[in-house]
Amino acid sequence: MLRDKLEKGEFAITCEFVPGRGKTGPGVEAAIEFAKAVAGPDSKIHAVSLTDNPGGNSAMIPDALAPEIQKQGLDVLVHFSCRDLNRNAVESRLDALARAGVNNILVLTGDYPASGYEGNAAGVFDLDSVQTVKYIKAMNAGLEVAGAKKGTTTQLPKTNFYVAAAVSPFKLREEELVPQFFKLEKKIAAGADFIITQLGYDMRKFLEVKRYMTSRGLKVPLIGNVYVLSYGAGKTMNAGMVPGCVVTDELLKVLEAESKEPDKGKAKRLDRAAKMVAMFKGMGFNGVHIGGFGLKTDDFLFIIKRADDFAGQWESFIPEVCFSRKDEFYLFPPPVTYRPTDVEEDPIKHLPPGHVQIGYSISQAFHRVVFDRGSLGCRLLTSYYQMTLKHPGLARFTHFNEYMVKMLSFGCRDCGDCALPDMAYCCPQSMCAKQQRNGPCGDSKCGLCGACEDEKPCAWTVVYSRMKGAGKLDDMRNHYVPPRKMNLAYTSGWANYFLNKDHAAAAEASKEKEPESTKP
Ligand code: SF4
Repeated sequence: MLRDKLEKGEFAITCEFVPGRGKTGPGVEAAIEFAKAVAGPDSKIHAVSLTDNPGGNSAMIPDALAPEIQKQGLDVLVHFSCRDLNRNAVESRLDALARAGVNNILVLTGDYPASGYEGNAAGVFDLDSVQTVKYIKAMNAGLEVAGAKKGTTTQLPKTNFYVAAAVSPFKLREEELVPQFFKLEKKIAAGADFIITQLGYDMRKFLEVKRYMTSRGLKVPLIGNVYVLSYGAGKTMNAGMVPGCVVTDELLKVLEAESKEPDKGKAKRLDRAAKMVAMFKGMGFNGVHIGGFGLKTDDFLFIIKRADDFAGQWESFIPEVCFSRKDEFYLFPPPVTYRPTDVEEDPIKHLPPGHVQIGYSISQAFHRVVFDRGSLGCRLLTSYYQMTLKHPGLARFTHFNEYMVKMLSFGCRDCGDCALPDMAYCCPQSMCAKQQRNGPCGDSKCGLCGACEDEKPCAWTVVYSRMKGAGKLDDMRNHYVPPRKMNLAYTSGWANYFLNKDHAAAAEASKEKEPESTKP
């Protein structure tokens, strides 16, 4: 079982299947056949990993297939995308999974929805992946919910989820890459039990995830992603058509040459995958996640067997899988060794200083005078907003003026639960296609939002540059932002702040409740 394996510190292997569209089809059948073929007490495979509508396309939900695979005697890892469900539906789906005995969950932001029945589907993104991990952990502890009598609470039965989260180190620029590591840290702080990397073909970048985790004392298991890459899939990724997946021009040329061989490059790509498995093992990763389009049971078994044959030579393969782009940013200096090390310095300390951003400094100064709890401005405005409760016309007039100022300055969408101070005065509603409040999704491409059709910077690159310029990167990596309060939509964010109705008040209250010993 996957959890036992990882908890014992043994090397775990998961194999990925994509269920596909329709109640049956090659993806569904392949997963079942695979489970039948490899299940058993001595199986080298510890879970079948089932995707959740990858690429934002409709497909059979993995929850239906998971129990069928478990019945064959093989564990499953169900992907759980935040894209399609609001928080209540998230809980409902988790209850159903718990009921079905499916406990391994990989929480993902989810690719932006693609075209579906009669047009493009809507993205929900009610919770982000950090909030979802925290939610699942609260369910594991027994969720406290409102009781039958007013003012009472009751505890729901505890669940037993084992939660994975993802990290995407294949980012070209500093302002894209560092926020990925910060979000990783938030996911682990929220309770993620293990981490799986995005697929990629640069072992130095994979190593950087390990080095970052070591430097920050993040001691959860780390699983490397091995995607068996054909020329066709490589072309699609190279063209930027698979969100967050990088295939460089140089790698594409190698794949093209391989595709001209009589077996269309199959032997070479399976060997590359086996070498990557061997490298991850040698580098001290805790397992691998093997996937690839159209892979058969024998292909998976071949890769695993071949990786064992390669074990002694893993270091010699590293130069074969080090495909980087021009001006690729690395957070750490070139590695002296790819073997596991116990000590790494926090790389953030060694970054060159950022540039102070005047607009951000002005917003901060304004915030200190007007919004900081205890400031004169805050005391006066709290009284003012209390007074507006008795004067709806004045409340509407004040709200209109607030909206005009914030719309013109920050592109405000009037969500009523303002995250501007949490995100260096970037509005998540207008600047981030997935409204992420705790860090970037994995989609950005060369600093641009990977989910937007027009070329617009990923909101989190802007947040990073502002926070870096202000010397506040530690705040950025430690600050958890609770989910948006949807009932506040189209109400005054300022009134909600001063009258303690928004997420900031909830966050302050939960900080006060925290025992002294756990406060940062
Ligand atoms: S702005 Fe950044 S975090 Fe938001 S959807 Fe685009 S790439 Fe993802």
